[in-house]
Amino acid sequence: MPWDVLSDEQREIRELVRTLTRERIAPRAAEIDESSEFPWDMVELFREHELLGLPFEERHGGTGTGTLTLLVAIEEVSRACATSGLILAVQELGALALKLAGSDPQKERWLPRLASGEWLAAYALTEPGSGSDSAAMRTVARRDGDGYVLDGGKRFITNAGVAGLYTVFAKTDPEAGHGGISCFVVEADAPGLEIGRIEPKMGIKGSTTGEVFLDGCRVPAESLVGSEGEGFRIAMRVLDRSRPGIGAQALGIAQGATDYALEYAKTRETMGKPIAQHQLVAAKLADMETACEAARGLLYRFGQMADDGVDGPELTKASAMAKLHCSDTAMWVTTEAVQILGGYGYIKEYPVERMMRDAKITQIYEGTNEVQRLVIAREMVREARSSLLAGVA
Ligand SMILES: Cc1cc2nc3c(=O)[nH]c(=O)nc-3n(C[C@H](O)[C@H](O)[C@H](O)COP(=O)(O)OP(=O)(O)OC[C@H]3O[C@@H](n4cnc5c(N)ncnc54)[C@H](O)[C@@H]3O)c2cc1C
Repeated sequence: MPWDVLSDEQREIRELVRTLTRERIAPRAAEIDESSEFPWDMVELFREHELLGLPFEERHGGTGTGTLTLLVAIEEVSRACATSGLILAVQELGALALKLAGSDPQKERWLPRLASGEWLAAYALTEPGSGSDSAAMRTVARRDGDGYVLDGGKRFITNAGVAGLYTVFAKTDPEAGHGGISCFVVEADAPGLEIGRIEPKMGIKGSTTGEVFLDGCRVPAESLVGSEGEGFRIAMRVLDRSRPGIGAQALGIAQGATDYALEYAKTRETMGKPIAQHQLVAAKLADMETACEAARGLLYRFGQMADDGVDGPELTKASAMAKLHCSDTAMWVTTEAVQILGGYGYIKEYPVERMMRDAKITQIYEGTNEVQRLVIAREMVREARSSLLAGVA
């Protein structure tokens, strides 16, 4: 057996997901892209095989298998279908606030429904005027009797219209910046929660990305996650742990494109030999494979750190590096894959143009790659590390 960083249990789960991907997900990927319809059949498949339980502990009905295993599953699914891989990643994203900052009664109430896949989750932070700058959000939550009333609007929310539960960030103190933000769980049928436009997109077309309006949306006081004013801290802790899920999606796309380009290059002949034997093509393939393996190293290291209980600035930096490198790799590798297929790479009969379109979003959502670079550099400056030049006049 080839050397592998994964445990026996992790390898077994990867094998299960790989088989499902090959037999059930890959044959649907082009149709999902073409129709731009949310793939409920993939959700059903994940439910049947308990894959939506991967982000959750056993006591909440999950598999209790940890972060690295989840990342491997997202990677495997995304090798064939980035839309389907995103379903697993967003189940984690939408649940993380509850997992990290929810009370026991909140966890017992909501997490089992997410772990079984009965409900999908969504994470609603972005607004029309606040993406990278989330402190500029305008959605407000006003205390009213035994609950809160939310007013405002969120944009670009993955799983809008298909989620059963939305993690929503709103200002309980509109005059304050970061410190005025609070976090709420809002069920899809809460009065005043309306779904607006679902955006047509370049890639991950089966995933819904939409507006979520909160118009006098009343929620009980027990919907507040953590305490008032703690929302920004929760939102950032969530992203620290969820961004590598996008890294895993990106790595899956990159590996899928590399594998496809390799197979193509072994059979397509020009000037009397397979193009894989032309040195310029061979070099591309070697660089693509190396880039994927390097990205995997960063991603799995993050998974192991999270499973070992590492937290704080070290985890933040590892998370940002994994997301940044995996997504830049995906964009570059898929562009090279299109090049290797020549004209065939540009047409829809072959999957690499879809992979290239799907790759682009991984550099944008859950914090753009510019923001990831800011985060990494901030942690570098903060770290008290010794330099070989220290003390040199
Ligand atoms: C398909 C899709 C799904 C999404 N899903 C979700 C979701 O589920 N939940 C959610 O809350 N949001 C979601 N988003 C929103 C996404 O996270 C934001 O679009 C993203 O964070 C960027 O915000 P913005 O679009 O407002 O861009 P802006 O913040 O306006 O940035 C525009 C450009 O300026 C750069 N920039 C901004 N500030 C700086 C800076 N300080 N230094 C250097 N460069 C900077 C950015 O990197 C970017 O290149 C989704 C978006 C898309 C397209």
